[in-house]
Amino acid sequence: MKIPQDLKQLVAASRALGSDPKLVLHGGGNSSLKARARDVAGRTLDVLYVKGSGRDLAEVEARDFPALRMGPLVALKVLDTLSDADMVRTLNAARLDSEAPTPSVETLLHAFLPAKYVLHTHADAVLALTNQPNGAALCRAVFGPDVVVAPYAMSGFALAKTADRLVGKQPDAWALIVRQHGIFTFGRTAKEAHDRMNRAVAMAELRVRAAGKKIKSARRKSAAPPLDEIAPSLRGAVATRAPDGSWNRMVTDFRSSAAISAYLDGADLRRYASAGLATPDHVIWTKPKPLILDSMPADPAALPGSIRASVAAFAEDYRAYVARHASRRAEVAKPLDALPRVALVPGHGLFGLGRTSREAKIAADLAEANVGVIGAAERIGKFAPVSEGDLFDIEYWGPEQAKRDRGAARSLPPLQGQIAVVTGAASGIGAATAKMFADAGAAVAVLDRERSGAEAVAQTIGGIGLGCDVTDRRAVQRAMAEIVRRFGGVDIVVSNAGAAWQGEIGTVSDDILRKSFELNFFAHQSMAQEAVAVMRRQGTGGCLLFNTSKQAVNPGSNFGPYGLPKAATLFLVRQYALDHGKDGIRANAVNADRVRTGLLTDSMIKQRANARKVSEDTYMRGNLLGEEVTADDVARAFLHLALSPKTTAAVLTVDGGNIEAALR
Ligand code: ZN
Repeated sequence: MKIPQDLKQLVAASRALGSDPKLVLHGGGNSSLKARARDVAGRTLDVLYVKGSGRDLAEVEARDFPALRMGPLVALKVLDTLSDADMVRTLNAARLDSEAPTPSVETLLHAFLPAKYVLHTHADAVLALTNQPNGAALCRAVFGPDVVVAPYAMSGFALAKTADRLVGKQPDAWALIVRQHGIFTFGRTAKEAHDRMNRAVAMAELRVRAAGKKIKSARRKSAAPPLDEIAPSLRGAVATRAPDGSWNRMVTDFRSSAAISAYLDGADLRRYASAGLATPDHVIWTKPKPLILDSMPADPAALPGSIRASVAAFAEDYRAYVARHASRRAEVAKPLDALPRVALVPGHGLFGLGRTSREAKIAADLAEANVGVIGAAERIGKFAPVSEGDLFDIEYWGPEQAKRDRGAARSLPPLQGQIAVVTGAASGIGAATAKMFADAGAAVAVLDRERSGAEAVAQTIGGIGLGCDVTDRRAVQRAMAEIVRRFGGVDIVVSNAGAAWQGEIGTVSDDILRKSFELNFFAHQSMAQEAVAVMRRQGTGGCLLFNTSKQAVNPGSNFGPYGLPKAATLFLVRQYALDHGKDGIRANAVNADRVRTGLLTDSMIKQRANARKVSEDTYMRGNLLGEEVTADDVARAFLHLALSPKTTAAVLTVDGGNIEAALR
């Protein structure tokens, strides 16, 4: 389909707005164009191109703008009230193409405004001015008489009617500010509307910068405990147990900056941080209030219990809020969970929390935006957002819930909310396992001695890549601290890194033997021990998986330097299972053999095949099933063990069948 020139301009202006986080974030904001278009029968009619609901402005394309017949939309102006359900049905029915996206919930406002182009953002600086007790007067003083200032009304029909009435009285207006919500600018061209948005934001920023007041800083009695103790305790506190005993966990996204510190150090933190949100739209990702962890015990042993109590108090407060406002909306029949999505930790920074790392990132991005807006509002005067009831109306509004649910998968992936670490993951079995765990919904940290290789794999699976020499205990500690900082903790370790050393046991040097023990035994122990410390803080169990080897049970000649530490590691699996079963931590191993990887290279395969006088293919298929074993086969075994909640101290063999190496 040919895209009209006017629509191309709208797309370009929308993307420009969307790429500036100071204007909109995560599906916020929208834009529209009034134009003429042809329907299937060839008739020319007036249409409104308006952004589809929940589409991200930064990545929006022409097909994300459904075309709606103007007639049925404008006809609604005669009504005094219109239910949300009727509004959504009318909007959907007005589409020229019934398969086009669902139009934005702010469509009627766009339709009722006379301008050809209308752009809408939640610009931070504008929100700092409108979220004030005297916001209307302040806006008039800053923006002048040709900007209409409307009182807050919920998006939808009521707001569209108010806007129509106010803008109708001021035909020369170039912008509309909806208090405590955002700004709309108008233009005959997309450029004119865009320039006006930039102009309004610049005017607001000038006023914000002119605010002389500083946020009064509090003197806190004691320093906060270390972040790497807080994060796992927080993850544990927000985890809930399903009736079958499995845990529903969350992932965190931590942020710190000078601006966040100044905000968190404020003497009035509890007042302004709990007053509400910069714009009501955020509530679906952040909840109405953050969890504030401003008094924690110095004793690390008391920390998990203290944070659990804070989360329980938050949940009680949230349920009371739902009960207070339940009569306002029918959708409350299914109350949302009562867990926080943002946690503020004075002395450190803030956490976004989510069922996936994507959701955690959205919550953290919006929390940071709130820090900016609320901080600026407090410097100008006093942060005065919409009421709690108004937030409730949005949080439990069907169309908004649909926005959030669109992002969530229909059926949950089995490792959703879990954090997995895979070592030796830049290639071979490790890379295959990292990918399979990410596909199963886990947030994955890819570790390898070479950082670039780890990062390359992480990029393809959407995880984090870290360089880590697992034979260096301090490097393992640093990596674990980084994982805790990035995701909040760890639930699954796949200790996979290894290398094969050879030598006849009667003559091999101690040096070779010790090197092999460092990587093939002690590195497994370091990873497991550091992970167990984090898992115990979380208090939600955990899963340790080790790559042992056929050599651990069935020695090959001259392979002692490899088999001995692997045998010790096999025993290590059982020791962890025995000592930490009480913590809900499982320990299992995969025994793999003859897999084409960095350990068993193509040239080694050729050499061994020649020595046995068989083809390389026959050598690789030399097992009971007559099939080559691949890295994916091994990865699948790790995944099965991770998904077997009642299995511990087990060894799963992946070798195509080798009766001499079968465990007895
Ligand atoms: Zn909006």
